[in-house]
Amino acid sequence: MKAIQAVRGVRDILPPETAKWRRMEAVAREVFELAGYREIRLPLFERTELFARGIGETTDIVEKEMYTFHDRSGESVTLRPEATASLLRAYIEHGLHVQPKPVRLYTMGPMFRYERPQAGRYRQFHQANVEAVGEVHPALDAEVIGMLLEFFRALGLADRVTLHVNSIGDGQCRPAFRRGLLEYLTQHLSSLCEECRARVERNPLRVLDCKNPGCQPTIERAPSILDALCAACASHFDQVQAALGALGISYRITPRMVRGLDYYVRTTFEMVAGELGAQNAVAGGGRYDGLIAALGGPPDPGIGFAIGMERVSLLLQDVADPAAPLALLIPLGDAALHRLLALARSVRRQGLAVDVAYGARRLRSELDRANRLAIPYAVIVGDLELAKGHAQLREMAEGSQRELPLDEVPGELSRLAERRRRG
Ligand code: AMP
Repeated sequence: MKAIQAVRGVRDILPPETAKWRRMEAVAREVFELAGYREIRLPLFERTELFARGIGETTDIVEKEMYTFHDRSGESVTLRPEATASLLRAYIEHGLHVQPKPVRLYTMGPMFRYERPQAGRYRQFHQANVEAVGEVHPALDAEVIGMLLEFFRALGLADRVTLHVNSIGDGQCRPAFRRGLLEYLTQHLSSLCEECRARVERNPLRVLDCKNPGCQPTIERAPSILDALCAACASHFDQVQAALGALGISYRITPRMVRGLDYYVRTTFEMVAGELGAQNAVAGGGRYDGLIAALGGPPDPGIGFAIGMERVSLLLQDVADPAAPLALLIPLGDAALHRLLALARSVRRQGLAVDVAYGARRLRSELDRANRLAIPYAVIVGDLELAKGHAQLREMAEGSQRELPLDEVPGELSRLAERRRRG
């Protein structure tokens, strides 16, 4: 019978790659919690209208990438394509705005977008998301960006990513910029790709984001949003840059960076890892003052970012799998098996990982298994040892073996584990 495969664009994360994921998640939690963020866990699906309202009707995500279906009661629901809309829905629904501001929250988990799968781009992918809600001060923007950098630094990746920042203005200055841009793009329609031509009327800012090489000359000569900022947005951006400077953070100003979600205002930013090729954005975020009100909540401002975990995983070296067993307990016979099952339980209660063989294979093939699993020690008990209450402890790398009382095995394994930890 033909075996069933996973859905296109959806991948399994197998060991030992899972060890990298645990490291990324542990580092994210540590960095975020040190900065006062607390974890929130959100549902994987929401009412469709939340994303339509929250992300913007004319974005690629809402127009063509959502996994939307009707549940059995006929309600339209959508697998979340991003976390901000859900998090703000929860913020409003549970009245979190009464807490001292900014309310700092983070979450992690899978997102779903029907995109064309390629290296670094999947239909189910994972993000770590951070949101700071209720504070408009530009120093917060710099602090949030600084925390994102700390995440990369803690993983040893700081030198391999570049920070891009921009301001995309607000409801005061962006409409006039949009009109000017629309006029410019309309004059240059013939030099734009088909997708950009379709975007010009609906969402001209998104044209600036196009990666098609043919569009680049037109995009490079387009008016810059930074020339069109109103005084309040320009001052906000100046202060963000001053605070970034105070933190010693280097960055590039990239006026074409508008990002794919409509809700952003003022500060937007992205972390890029050039070595990843076409899908090189490893994290992105920005300010979304006004979004909470648009979702029916109080007029609270906010800023946040999302880290693309698959792409960070691509940058990371394999890390040692902490779940790998320390020893394989090998019985030679049923009586020894029963003794070793009990021994395994007491060793595990000491917090050490061990694996038990069942005695059905020859000793040589069990030792071979220990080698292939990179298990450093074997504890071998045959009838002779059992009669004496002893075991053979074998160091796999050297092939050396010594006998010791069975009762002393847990203590000896602990000692060996400690020695390995210290290197
Ligand atoms: P966004 O929510 O679009 O701002 O994306 C934030 C980050 O999520 C990006 O910088 C990517 O690292 C990651 N990301 C977005 N879409 C995908 C995808 N389809 N597959 C893998 N990672 C993604």
